[in-house]
Amino acid sequence: MNNDSIIESGDPGHPDITDEEKEKLLLLVQKMLGMGICAVYGQEDEGLPDACLDCETNLKWCRAICCTFQFALTKEEVQKGHLKYNPSRPFFIARDTDGYCPHLERGTMRCTVWSERPLRCRRYDCTEDAAVPKGRINHE
Ligand code: SF4
Ligand code: SF4
Repeated sequence: MNNDSIIESGDPGHPDITDEEKEKLLLLVQKMLGMGICAVYGQEDEGLPDACLDCETNLKWCRAICCTFQFALTKEEVQKGHLKYNPSRPFFIARDTDGYCPHLERGTMRCTVWSERPLRCRRYDCTEDAAVPKGRINHE
């Protein structure tokens, strides 16, 4: 990611900051990005293909655990308006009180917006994610 695109000095609407302050902010943002508790709105991981997983088979083990994760919607998804976001944490995907995405059909554990699911859902590969406990995914 290009750091200059995260914080641009002289950007109208943003206060001027010193180079030292900019450096500190960049370190903080990068740390938060790494922890998954922040996202840079409008910065998309273009060029990556969709993940190719057998979710259908795995659902009986994983119970769609990935649909409890927090992630930011893209600028285009927010503008399109077909996905629910958390009003107290815009523009992260909404989560119901049970922790699951409101777009998940609880009985079948299927995504009700599959053909228009978020970019981050399309590209998420749980086999590479330590946050998904081993045993929740069948790698056979
Ligand atoms: S945890 Fe993995 S296998 Fe299960 S629904 Fe999510 S991406 Fe698919
Ligand atoms: S949009 Fe669909 S795939 Fe993405 S978290 Fe919600 S239910 Fe899961």
